[in-house]
Parts: sequence; structure tokens; C-alpha cells
Amino acid sequence: MRILVAGAGVSGLALALALQKRGIAAEVVEKIPEFQTPGTAVHLPGNAVRVLELLGLEKELQKISHPVQRQMIYDRNGQELSSLSTSSIWSTVGSSLTVSYDALRSLLQSAIDIRHIRLNTELTSASPDGRATYKDGSSEAFDLVVGADGIRPVVRENLFHVSMGTPGRVGWHFIAYDVSGDTNNQILCIGGSGRSFLISPLSAVLTFCCAEVDSTRTPAPKSNWQNLFVDFPYKATLLLEQGENAFFTPNTGVIDTDWVRPHAVLIGDAAHPFPFGATQGAPWPLKMHSSWRRRSCQSTARLSSLLAAYRRRRIQRVQWVVDQSKREEKFRTQPRMIRTKVSTRRTENLYKDRYSELHAMP
Ligand SMILES: Cc1cc2nc3c(=O)[nH]c(=O)nc-3n(C[C@H](O)[C@H](O)[C@H](O)COP(=O)(O)OP(=O)(O)OC[C@H]3O[C@@H](n4cnc5c(N)ncnc54)[C@H](O)[C@@H]3O)c2cc1C
Repeated sequence: MRILVAGAGVSGLALALALQKRGIAAEVVEKIPEFQTPGTAVHLPGNAVRVLELLGLEKELQKISHPVQRQMIYDRNGQELSSLSTSSIWSTVGSSLTVSYDALRSLLQSAIDIRHIRLNTELTSASPDGRATYKDGSSEAFDLVVGADGIRPVVRENLFHVSMGTPGRVGWHFIAYDVSGDTNNQILCIGGSGRSFLISPLSAVLTFCCAEVDSTRTPAPKSNWQNLFVDFPYKATLLLEQGENAFFTPNTGVIDTDWVRPHAVLIGDAAHPFPFGATQGAPWPLKMHSSWRRRSCQSTARLSSLLAAYRRRRIQRVQWVVDQSKREEKFRTQPRMIRTKVSTRRTENLYKDRYSELHAMP
């Protein structure tokens, strides 16, 4: 059985590693010439950490990540709206951590046989019978092509014809120096027009920052974007000043639940780049692989029934995430006073609702 994984991001590498543990050597191609995505990080709630533990990466993960104990929410005047213990909410599932994207990718990559990862190899098209064509013009035949190629995926465009949703939100992400000494808590500041600024500590002196704004009402500028947050508290302003080279990301979502073909499957953002909070992006693809762990493909003959079974197992949860995504969108468009009131009084319940389904194994 020949499997191609297109894209060596967190989902592609997690799947390749899971298959390797099952004795299946998938071939991974990655378009960038070297692994480098400076300036980005991911917050991993317990469900993502659990998957990394299942992959045998627990000890190494602890060394490269930073624990998150609480989430504090403030309004733009710096007044505390709520505080909740995210570590205890996730305690039965796994720890809550923040890790730089590069460190996470290196961790996954270091556990995979390097001979099966080809950098600087961009997939340009995939055909329904499993043929993959690369930018240099060469092509190869596979039994299965896995599209793990992120938010602008070739495999999805070629074989699934699913269009992206319109961005409801856009965001800027960067890593900044923070010497305030508050290294245990994730801080979320919320302002009008759907503006939010999330700070997740990465180490004693570094923090991951994620600023977001509704883009339906305000077309977001790509430069001088920090001006959108000038009225935020002093600490946010200090960090925002360091965000001039931030990554700009439209927060679009595919609400289609179709991601399996006879010789192709989509995983990670390529399948479901749901716009429901930055904290869902990484766990979702990481969790995807675990179904494959249990029922990996051992023979070509079984491939289509395995893919169909995989889809059946996933569909309920995918639908839940789609619905949750819609609920969050609806909540965000409520008048500010209502949102603030609900955020203050019901934070813990809101947070629990948001992730309740994800506590169980996929
Ligand atoms: C700046 C930023 C900050 C984020 N913050 C958070 C966060 O705090 N918490 C969280 O949970 N999620 C976060 N996310 C989302 C999270 O990173 C993604 O959901 C997750 O990385 C998806 O993993 P993936 O492997 O599907 O895609 P990606 O990580 O995007 O990886 C896709 C890979 O495919 C490669 N590729 C693309 N096209 C091709 C091609 N044609 N041929 C070969 N290779 C190709 C890309 O170079 C890339 O390496 C963030 C995303 C961004 C961009």
C-alpha cells in the first residue's frame, strides 16, 4: 500500500507517525525547503496533548512546552470579567500547554524516519485514481493521497470542489517578549467590533499573541493593524508594538462534511479549518489521526471500506464542530452588552460547552 501525505504540518506529521507505529511507511512531501515558521505557536488544550501522548511524545512535549493554568478575561478597560481554571477543566483529559509551532513540528518530525519526508516538493495536482503531480513536473501513483496541506489545499481543490466560507474574522499572530512575570495564565482581552487579544505564555519571557477582529463589518487592514487595538490595556499595547511582522490569517471555514474519496482523504485544516477559536485548530487535526491508529489500512483491498468506516466514525463529531462553530458565530454577533454579561456570568459553562464533546476520545 503506497500512501502519500501532502503537507508536513502538524496533522500530516502526526498521521505519518501514527501510521509508522502501525508499520506503514507513508511518504510525506512538503513544499517548503526547510522547517521554519518563526513567530507562530499553538495553544494545545488537553485533547491535543492526549493525542501527542498516545504518539509516545509525552516526555519530550513537556520539555518544549509551557503549561497554562488559568484563562483570565478582561474588557478593554482592563477590568476583570472572569477567571477560570482551564487546567482543572481539562484535568481528566490532559494538560493544557502552549508550544511554538516549530518546536511541535520538530518534535513530530524527529520521531519519523527521515527517509520518508521530502522537503521542497510541492504537490500541484492530485487525480481521482491517486496520481500525484509535483511542481517539477514529475508524478507518481499512490493507493491513497492524504491532503494535509493546510488552508489552501491542492487535494481539496482538485478532488473535492469545496469552496471556502467567507472570513468572519481575521487575525494576526506573533511571539513577543513579555517580562511581566505572569507566566501561568492565558489572558484574553475583549473589546467592541468583535476585537480580541489573546496572550498565551510560552516561557518565562516569551508569549504567543493572537489579535482578532470581525472582518464582516470592518475590512481589516494588513498593515498598521495594531491601530485597531489602541484602546486596549497597557500590557496589550506593549505587546502589540512587537507585532509588526505578525502573520495575517483570514479565519475562514469549510462547512462541508465531505472529506473522503476512493483514493483520497483530507485531514487537518485541509478538511476542516473551522473558525471557532484559535485553540481548536491544532487539536482537531492532531485528533484526526487517532482513528487511523486503531484501524490503519493494511491492504489495498480494504482501503475503501476503511475510509468509509473512518468517515462514519468521524461524521458525528465533525457535525458537532460545524454546529458549535455556528453557535459561536451567532454569539459573537450579539450586542456587546449581552456578550459581556454572558461572558462574565457564564464563562465556565461557555468554556465547558465549547469543548465538551472533545473530552471523549474521537
Ligand atoms: C499564525 C497561526 C496561529 C495559530 N494559532 C493556533 C493556536 O493558538 N491554537 C491552535 O490550536 N491552532 C492555531 N492555529 C491553527 C493551527 O496551526 C492549524 O489548525 C494547524 O496547524 C493545522 O495543521 P495542518 O497540518 O492541517 O496545517 P498546517 O499546519 O498549515 O500545515 C500544512 C503544511 O502543508 C504544506 N503545504 C501546503 N501546500 C502544500 C503543497 N501543495 N504541497 C506540499 N506541501 C504543502 C505547508 O507548507 C505546511 O507545512 C494557528 C494557525 C496559524 C496560521
